[in-house]
Order: sequence, then C-alpha cells, then structure tokens
Amino acid sequence: MKKSVLENFRRVVIKIGSSLLISNNKFNTNWFDSFVDDIILLRKRKIEILIVVSGAVSLGKNYLKINKTKLKIFEKQACAACGQLILMNNFKKSFEKKNIKVAQILLTFFDTENRRNSLNSRETITELLKFKIIPVINENDSVSIDELKFGDNDRLAARVSQIIGADHLVLLSDVDGLFTSNPKKNKKVELIEEVREVNEKIFKMASAETNFHGTGGMLTKLQAAEIAAGSGCNTIICKGTIKNPIKNYFNKCYGTKFLSNNKYGTSFKKWIAGAINVMGTLILDDGAIRALKKGASILPSGIENIIGTFFKGDVISFKNLNGKNIGKGVTYYDSKEIKIIKGRKSSEIKKLLGYEGRDEIVHRDYLILNE
Ligand code: GLU
Repeated sequence: MKKSVLENFRRVVIKIGSSLLISNNKFNTNWFDSFVDDIILLRKRKIEILIVVSGAVSLGKNYLKINKTKLKIFEKQACAACGQLILMNNFKKSFEKKNIKVAQILLTFFDTENRRNSLNSRETITELLKFKIIPVINENDSVSIDELKFGDNDRLAARVSQIIGADHLVLLSDVDGLFTSNPKKNKKVELIEEVREVNEKIFKMASAETNFHGTGGMLTKLQAAEIAAGSGCNTIICKGTIKNPIKNYFNKCYGTKFLSNNKYGTSFKKWIAGAINVMGTLILDDGAIRALKKGASILPSGIENIIGTFFKGDVISFKNLNGKNIGKGVTYYDSKEIKIIKGRKSSEIKKLLGYEGRDEIVHRDYLILNE
C-alpha cells in the first residue's frame, strides 16, 4: 500500500454493500476473508476501523425461503432479524480466525437524527474502539418502518462517520467510482478522480439505479459523500467486487475521492449539517437573510411564513421568499408558537405567548447556512 496515501487515515468507516457480501444468496466467505486481510493491514498502521454492513434482509429472505422481490414491511423486518444473525456469525468467524474481535451495533434513524441518542451511540462506539474491537453497524431493520428509516446504508454510514468524527468514509461499490455518466449503459465515460464539491452538476452524473440485493445506488452514495464532506470527512468510492478491495485501492488509487469541506466548525453544527430529517420550514424575508449571512440569529420579526408542524428541538430548514434553501437549524419554539409571534418584535414574546422564552427562534450557534 502506498504509505503517503494512508498518512491522513486515522479513523475510517468502511461500508460494504450486499452485492459484495452475498453471492448465490449465501454469505461470500471467500471475498470476506480477503477483506479481513485488508483490515489487518490498516490496523497495523494504527488506523481505527468501523464497518457498516448490509445484506441482512437479503440473507434473511433466503433463510426463510421467500422468493418474491417486493416484501411487506413485516416480512422485511422478520428477514432482517434472521439475516442479521447470519451476517454477524460470519463476521465473527472470519475475524476471530485472525484474532480480531467484533461487536454489533444496530441503529435506528431516530438514533442518528436525535442529538442525545447520537451522542449516546458515539460513547458506545468510542468505548469499543478503545478496546480495539471493530464495531459492525447496520440499521436496526427489524424494528424500523419504511417511512422512518435510512433504507440505504450509504447515508447511514455517512451519518455514523459524522457522529464518531471519522476522517475517511470508504464506500465499496460494484463500480470503480463516479463516472461522467452511467458506465453500465454508456461506453464513452470517464472516471472522476476527485470531487471538491458535491453540487448539482455532480448529482446529474449519478443514476438512481441499484443492484438486486441492495437499496443504494450512485445517488445515495453522493448524498452520503455530501453529508460526510460537511462534517470534515473525505469519502472514497471504489470497486469492492474484487478480492482485497482496500489494498487494491491503496495500491492503485483508482476510484473517486470526495474532499471534505470542513466548513461547519463545531461538532454540533456538523450534526445539524448532516441532519436528514427536516421537520418543517421557515420562510424568511430578505432582511432576515441578509442579517443571517452577517452572523445573526433568526428572530420572529424576519419570519414571513411557517411550513409544517414541528416542535422545540427539531431540525428545520430556512428558505427565502422565492423558495430557495438557505440553511437549517434547531428551533427553540414549536411551529404553533412561531405562528403567533412571527413578524413581531422579540420584546413582545412574553405578552403574546404568556411566558418569557428566548429572543431568537433559531440561535446563530444552532444553525448552518448553505453556500
Ligand atoms: N440495512 C439493509 C440490510 O441489511 C441494507 C440497506 C442497503 O442495502 O443499503 O439488508
């Protein structure tokens, strides 16, 4: 492995999708053992590793001998409960052969999107890393319902990277990286080796197409890279469907690297930047937006309208009068209260609501602005 490339790697989240782990409906031990060898090489360089794993539903489907493609939510949950066990049994077997210990962490969407739960998960994961154990993370599919879940493990992996402060997120894929257009459909495509900003132009290159076992495609990988970048973490997309995929990447450096932008400072702001579950929106007037850009908080006087029902502590977005997204932050007031105080002075809050709250609807330390 090229030493220079590995220099900035300290804490790395590696996401392996179902298409790599499953072959002929069975756990692909052959491939996985080669992956474990790669992990050993990284650990020799004192790099901390976390793995985000997929395939529980797919393996469970085979275990329960279910043939249809579209599963009802209860069937999916039952499959995940069975398949997760198969996954972990195989992980434990392959890692223990090399004297490495693993632990399982199953997270719900709520665990990453709720600030307190996300901090709790961080404590557990950090403790495991101290013990030199590899945390193996999946979504808790057996208790999650479709409306309230990640669904794809790409964004889960990005959110985990943000929560534990990883410096690199590696998304092992069935393609070499991001191409100018879908390499499975077009011959004349070019691999993009480095992306400095995940913007609209980049999103246009991705197709939402996914493989048979998994739910993510290039689109969810780009969303993941965007979340990770905002939290100061680089993302690498490279080919995983070969043996020793990590070693291969570090030898050839063939893949797409998305550079982190590290623009959000505090870890709380990074958490806000990565929030997926936005509960509502404030429409702000031009004066409020000008003030925001100069570093002010959001006050009741600058709010023109409120969309959605949300509560104190929820992450909400802000838009200008033309509907353009300006940023997001944590609200101090419920939407019901903001409807009463919008357009008014902060000094009137006590009179209008019957109690004295903060002057700001969203404090400047609790918000992030888009470029
Ligand atoms: N969590 C799902 C599983 O283990 C996979 C989601 C994905 O394919 O990204 O089956």
